[in-house]
Amino acid sequence: MKEISLTATKTSAKELELLSKPRSEGWPAVRRAHLKLHPKCAVCEGTKKLQVHHCAPFHIQPELELDPSNLITLCESGHGGVICHEFIGHLSWWVAYNPNVREDAAEWNRKLKNRPLLLPK
Ligand SMILES: [Zn+2]
Ligand SMILES: [Zn+2]
Repeated sequence: MKEISLTATKTSAKELELLSKPRSEGWPAVRRAHLKLHPKCAVCEGTKKLQVHHCAPFHIQPELELDPSNLITLCESGHGGVICHEFIGHLSWWVAYNPNVREDAAEWNRKLKNRPLLLPK
């Protein structure tokens, strides 16, 4: 596997063109239905700046673009210190994806919910 720099954050014009592949006509309805069922970020449970993320990227598996089981709600609010969609969904780089996004989102959600506090209540 080719190693990439962990500080790579730039996306070339060619990569952006690949990523801007148009969505199918059915996408807005599928997106809306998903958000109705899953109205919170799977990581931080936030409800602002929600994105419906494809677990298997639709650039690679276009047949899963409208498959509800391929979708997960992640936010871009950044209120928890990270941008859930970018960090968990794309491992900190928009041209990458996280094959374990579901497990990682659940794991970080559990960690956040159970975080021990520094100060006594
Ligand atoms: Zn995404
Ligand atoms: Zn979030």
